[in-house]
Amino acid sequence: MNRAVQVEIPRSTPDVTRASYRSISLYSPNRAPCRLDLSDNTNMWGVPPTVRSLLGSSADSVITRYPRAYADDLKRAIGGYLNVAPACVVTGCGSDDVLDSAIRAFSEPGQTLAYPDPSFAMVEIFARMNGLSPLAIPLTGDYDADADAFIASGAPVIYLCSPNNPTGTTLSRRSIERIVEYAPGVVILDEAYAEFASGDCLDLLPGSERLVITRTMSKAFGLAGLRVGYAVGAAELVREIEKSRGPYKVSALAERAAIAALTEDRQWVEDRIIEARESRAKLTRELEKRGLLPLASEANFVLARVERAERLAARLRENGVAVRPFPGLRGIGDAIRITVGPWSMIEECFAALDGVVP
Ligand code: PMP
Repeated sequence: MNRAVQVEIPRSTPDVTRASYRSISLYSPNRAPCRLDLSDNTNMWGVPPTVRSLLGSSADSVITRYPRAYADDLKRAIGGYLNVAPACVVTGCGSDDVLDSAIRAFSEPGQTLAYPDPSFAMVEIFARMNGLSPLAIPLTGDYDADADAFIASGAPVIYLCSPNNPTGTTLSRRSIERIVEYAPGVVILDEAYAEFASGDCLDLLPGSERLVITRTMSKAFGLAGLRVGYAVGAAELVREIEKSRGPYKVSALAERAAIAALTEDRQWVEDRIIEARESRAKLTRELEKRGLLPLASEANFVLARVERAERLAARLRENGVAVRPFPGLRGIGDAIRITVGPWSMIEECFAALDGVVP
């Protein structure tokens, strides 16, 4: 099957491509391998034990056959985890896929998507991928959502994130409730980091038929490489997200692993969450001692204000430690985001940091 000579394919011309995509760049965080990678908020404690043994022992049929089109067994496991009906759950290839599908399901091209700034960088891109105008609404001085501005935007889709990436801070209950109550369209609340926080907003779901909460298996559950995310909301909204998402987005192996993590590895996950919170508190204190101004985080990472973030991250990388730089964040300035991990990893990070910060 191998061809001896590489097939030459000519360059294409932009006139055959979608005009509104020309200003979109591919998402490209620096993922070059690094000795200690604390840049992407994944689970630094590793793979849940049942998942590890299951992946090696799956029957051939799991791989040769198609999975269930909409991952019904996984929806049942998520329903059991969150105590909601499986009909109110939609899954996807990471919560990225669920967010993208939800945005598409609840808007027409040309409409507006309102989101807080700073927040999860992909949301603006998802808006533009779906032909929407992104409308960034600055976080308030205390890192809350500006409820009046969101409501006044009239956007048919509002995205909120709590705990928020990259700040790690939570939005106030009051603002979320007001936005959910008065928003003209659908509110998507991204709770990718909820497991690390002291509370969540799942209890708002029974009171609203227009709220969708997205979650992920990539963070607390340690399955980022398998790409499994989900959302919970009214069954009618969930069906629309499934239409826009399409079938077979969760692979059979990923579905099995996610079910195992949700049903058999919960204690392991909960123990790691406790360690992550302890590590986060210690990391925050150590950053404060060094005058690096961390924000109060409820996630599995800490954002610290620094000078010249890009340069600092590059120098840390030269010393084998990857953190995510955020130059010029609105209302914050330059900052680096450090993923929480076992304390020995954080010590390694500080050893590198102390070598490069004067
Ligand atoms: N939402 C937020 C706030 C995130 O930080 C991320 C990942 N960085 C995602 C969603 C997407 O996660 P995944 O696609 O792995 O579920």
